[in-house]
Amino acid sequence: MSEIVGIDLGTTNSLIGVMDAGFPILIANQEGSRLTPSVVYLPESGDPVVGAPADRMRALFPERTIYSVKRLMGRRPGESEKEDFPFAVKSQSGQMLLELGQRSFKPEEISSLVLKKLKADAELSLGNPIERAVITVPAYFNDLQRQATKRAGELAGFAVERMINEPTAAALAYGLNRLDDHSRIAVYDLGGGTFDISILELNEGVFRVLSTNGNTRLGGDDIDRELVRLLRERIIARHPELRQELDDKLFIARIREIGHAAKLRLSTEETVQVDIPFLSGDRSFPYHLTRQELEAIARPIVRRTRSHCLRSLDDAKLDPAKLDEVILVGGVTRMPIVRQFVAEIFQRLPNNTQNPDEAVAVGATIQAGMLSGQIQNVLLLDVTPLSLGIETFGGLMNVLIPRNSTIPCKAGELFTNAVANQSVVQIVVLQGERELAKDNWELGRFDLEFEPVSKGFARIGVQFEIDADGILHVLARDTRTGRQRLIELSSAVDVSDEAVEKMIAESLDHAFEDMADRLWTEAVLKSNELLPAVRSALTLVGDQIELDDRRKIHRLVNEVEVALKSREHHRLKKANAELDEGTQHLATLLIDRAMAEAARRKK
Ligand code: ADP
Ligand code: MG
Repeated sequence: MSEIVGIDLGTTNSLIGVMDAGFPILIANQEGSRLTPSVVYLPESGDPVVGAPADRMRALFPERTIYSVKRLMGRRPGESEKEDFPFAVKSQSGQMLLELGQRSFKPEEISSLVLKKLKADAELSLGNPIERAVITVPAYFNDLQRQATKRAGELAGFAVERMINEPTAAALAYGLNRLDDHSRIAVYDLGGGTFDISILELNEGVFRVLSTNGNTRLGGDDIDRELVRLLRERIIARHPELRQELDDKLFIARIREIGHAAKLRLSTEETVQVDIPFLSGDRSFPYHLTRQELEAIARPIVRRTRSHCLRSLDDAKLDPAKLDEVILVGGVTRMPIVRQFVAEIFQRLPNNTQNPDEAVAVGATIQAGMLSGQIQNVLLLDVTPLSLGIETFGGLMNVLIPRNSTIPCKAGELFTNAVANQSVVQIVVLQGERELAKDNWELGRFDLEFEPVSKGFARIGVQFEIDADGILHVLARDTRTGRQRLIELSSAVDVSDEAVEKMIAESLDHAFEDMADRLWTEAVLKSNELLPAVRSALTLVGDQIELDDRRKIHRLVNEVEVALKSREHHRLKKANAELDEGTQHLATLLIDRAMAEAARRKK
């Protein structure tokens, strides 16, 4: 089956990923970045330019450089149709069209160019063609918007296997499908140009959207714009003579680029030095930008997300205390001020264990892995890495919970005593894939005392239970007296990958001899049961059968004894079967005798 890729087709940035040996990895583009700006430059003649190189054309050819096209594809219900793009957009019978000279483009045609680049770059990196994809869409996208996204995928040459909601993908990336059923999650997604807040509920491993809210014109771009304004003011204050130059769109683009880089650094640093080279001469403008200054301009922008959050909580009929988790998505949530703000609104620290601008793509990739069968269990439950069991007669491994069983789980079996008048059994807990107890790992052992009875009469139940925390509880109970013992072992699930691999490799290497060992041991156990029984029957009822018959039985017994020394399990198994067969009538005679005796005693 061919690979399926996961794609986050973002308003600002797009990403593509693929499962690699069980792990989602995001693929870097030809420029060496995992983030590909969703920007397309359409020159008057020649091929379209996509990604970072196109982004650089924005200042030079604003009317031919298309960005944020996803906004034209997906409008929230009730939002105005007005867009202030530097390129020409017209609305034609409800459909938005981009006009470039004589040509016009549908938004999905532009999006398909972004997808084409992701596809081409990933194919180059993976070294093989990719045909199938999972693409994410905002949770509020309606059917038409989803279809447009799907068409974009198809135009780029993908079979679009599934479209999943961005917040759902993000929740998958954060591993929240492992939360308890009915858990509620808020996904706070502040990207370049759009803000989305979604409340999800987990239902049997599937995320249901309880409510969504947001704004398709709110995001990091707003911060960039304000930062340009601030830097421009500072330059004018110090160099009033440059006022004219500061209106130059190339110069503004340069300030934006430098300001943007400074903004990113201020998420982890307290202050950065910006240096804006002037267009004229060799002078430049050096400036120390502090996080405080940046936060002062970001605060009112971030604050605008508040009402959307409150409304989405209201729509889901939840107060923040009822949420089980709040996760951060979108590059802007790397800013400390955003994290503080989210913590205030939801009255809890948001989960920031994933890269916020990569989470959606990682989730799409995980979904792709599930579809292509690379991730077996959709619920991603833990499984037992190796089989668990106890040692039984003859040193054999008796598996109670097979390897790869989903946790939590429970299994049990009834055992009996091998020796008459035995009054204690030892329960040896084993882990591994080998047939003989001695080749497996011993996790623990304990004794259980029980009433001495004849061989095979004891009834000892052994139960294994692995709870959700991966702790193995071993219970052994003498069902006649109710006496029981319970032990807990915590090492049953946490086994290093190498140890598991080694154990499985060994079990495969030794599969043949192991199986022969097991068959041999089982045959020996059978002989040990058969021989004393036949001998005692011969003493009791031997005189009631023909001499020839007696001789034949002796011959069969002899063959079993010889076979026992041969170590050939086929031979012993055959000898056992023949002895069993050849002494069937002895069993009948024994029963007759027992009945006659009982009748005599009754008299
Ligand atoms: P989208 O979902 O809109 O495609 P992203 O999630 O990639 O966008 O977010 C892009 C936005 O995040 C941009 O405005 C970018 O400047 C901002 N951003 C990315 N990294 C950081 C950072 N470290 N600090 C602040 N803002 C950041
Ligand atoms: Mg996004």
